[in-house]
Amino acid sequence: MARILITSGPTRQYLDPVRYLSNASSGRMGAALANAAIELGHEVVIVTGPVSIDYPAAATIVPVVTTDEMLAAGREWFARCEGAIGAAAPCDYMPMVVETQKIAKTGQPLTLQLVETPDVVATLGQIKTADQWVVGFALETEDRRFRATVKLEKKHCDMIVSNGPTAIDSDSNEVELLDAAGAVVVRVKGSKSEVAGVLLAEIDTRLIRQRTNP
Ligand code: C5P
Repeated sequence: MARILITSGPTRQYLDPVRYLSNASSGRMGAALANAAIELGHEVVIVTGPVSIDYPAAATIVPVVTTDEMLAAGREWFARCEGAIGAAAPCDYMPMVVETQKIAKTGQPLTLQLVETPDVVATLGQIKTADQWVVGFALETEDRRFRATVKLEKKHCDMIVSNGPTAIDSDSNEVELLDAAGAVVVRVKGSKSEVAGVLLAEIDTRLIRQRTNP
């Protein structure tokens, strides 16, 4: 039995008290992974951005809004977990200035200056101990395998799940799981629940059992 951290859903970066940048991530892949992990007997902590789906009742849910909050909660919980799966789609940019009052329309174009937010998975990959593991996701529209391999290395992941843009806000997914050397471990297409079952089985054999039964 392991305790697994799953990041899930989108994050929001506010421009003013009512407007924000975000994306269409539903949290369904995170929920499906959590279910699959619980079915294998693992404990699950889900650090999630705002979503409208239900997560499994057996999981510990840690709600966050911004990418900075996801990073802070992720770091804190990762210290108490054997591994992490980054299924979230954190907002990659935040406005340089967050207005305290609602920005008033002027009839003129509005230019926003954005800065990058921190990368949650890359940070967990950097701070993981030899006993911990990190699995990331890579959502790419082209050169999928190559770009996923680059992210795998850059974010210090033990494995990475490569998927395409049709995964967002959908019930199904088509993925390739790559190992640390970039080799394809498994290719699977189906409902997010089917895909999660196959991914968790591989994570269980290749990352969790290896560490608990060396
Ligand atoms: O957005 P990108 O394709 O780079 O995401 C790849 C992986 O990195 C995913 O596992 C995602 O959850 C994670 N990520 C993150 N923090 C970000 C951006 C992405 O943890 N700011």
